[in-house]
Amino acid sequence: MTQPIFMVGARGAGKTTVGSELAKALGYKFVDTDLYLLRTSGLSVADIVDREGWEGFRRRETEALKAVCSPLTVIATGGGAVLAQENRDFMREAGTVIYLRSPATTLANRLEDAPQEDQRPTLTGRPITEEMMQVLNEREALYQEAAHHVVDGTQDPARVVNSVMNALALPMA
Ligand code: ADP
Ligand code: MG
Repeated sequence: MTQPIFMVGARGAGKTTVGSELAKALGYKFVDTDLYLLRTSGLSVADIVDREGWEGFRRRETEALKAVCSPLTVIATGGGAVLAQENRDFMREAGTVIYLRSPATTLANRLEDAPQEDQRPTLTGRPITEEMMQVLNEREALYQEAAHHVVDGTQDPARVVNSVMNALALPMA
């Protein structure tokens, strides 16, 4: 299997952490669409949202997904990449999609512990647990729809990488 592997899930799901470890384990390249946008535009997610709104960011994100898509690559996507049907269809067609699933409380704890690693502006300005509950309410079905495999993301990263490797050996959902 040489198709790209797309990591989807909310902020704090471990897309970057688990995705880069997975790439190492498989001998794949690793790319992060947020970092790709930063490298190619010189703008952070926050900058783009400031200048162009979330709509402008989403448009750039769709372009980024397509631009980074190549064989033997693990791709960490932005938490909202699944919002667009176009992105969901594209990822499912072009590669294998893994949803790293964790409850809102787990996501919120991680984001609170390491706020500096999360460079996305909050979507709602509300307390983080509430925000993550709202985000999962809105997106859970979309993550599931996009994913070929849903993986429990609550264990430590090495174990999550193992679960993803096991899932990759299974027939696709
Ligand atoms: P994402 O890219 O999905 O937003 P990150 O990989 O940046 O998530 O992880 C967010 C934070 O949570 C980081 O501080 C990271 O170290 C931590 N983290 C990620 N995955 C796990 C995990 N499986 N167990 C514990 N902490 C994790
Ligand atoms: Mg990330």
